[in-house]
Amino acid sequence: MAAAELGLLSYADAVAGCTKCALAQGRTQVVFGSGAPGAELMFVGEAPGFHEDKQGVPFVGAAGQLLSKLLAEIGLTRDEVYIANVLKCRPPGNRDPLPEEIEACEPHLWKQIELIQPKLICTLGNFATKLLSGRPNGITQVHGRPQDVTLGGNPVTLYPIFHPAAALYTPRMLQVLQEDFARLPELLGRAVAPPAVPEPEPLEQPVQLGLF
Ligand code: URA
Repeated sequence: MAAAELGLLSYADAVAGCTKCALAQGRTQVVFGSGAPGAELMFVGEAPGFHEDKQGVPFVGAAGQLLSKLLAEIGLTRDEVYIANVLKCRPPGNRDPLPEEIEACEPHLWKQIELIQPKLICTLGNFATKLLSGRPNGITQVHGRPQDVTLGGNPVTLYPIFHPAAALYTPRMLQVLQEDFARLPELLGRAVAPPAVPEPEPLEQPVQLGLF
């Protein structure tokens, strides 16, 4: 078993009993994350909802089905990427995460990133975008704009996009999300491409052979 997979399994085990914030009292289970431990592309959403809390897997409800569809449109499956959330436990009634919950939970996300070492992280919506960029700029302003950052000691391209839940009932938003999604293959190519080797300078000017 590869180091990332082993590390994630043992960290998930450790987090399963987390009581660092009050959400521990209302959850069915911790929703740690799912997908390929060595994924080059990682998605980070907000927090588990009703279905995620019941099944222990992120993005399995309506927003998750849209995420799977968007992935299929660019030729990817959930098994080829890694999916996690800012919060690992469901907030009551699916309310927004509180600052103290984010603060308590963020070490789990940093550890996941450190173990997975993705090349590209797609943040879904405001909470993941603000946390991972360390900037206050909202998703409407920054969606579709890749940012090169260092996370967990590794260079990563951060790519903020709208949360799929926002596109569920708004066709215009769905179109924006599809457009932003369509750039993912290119960004993955860019992120994994080796550094460009500069062309060697010619030592001497080639002699022009005059035929006439
Ligand atoms: N929304 C999220 O942000 N995460 C989930 O896992 C499900 C819905």
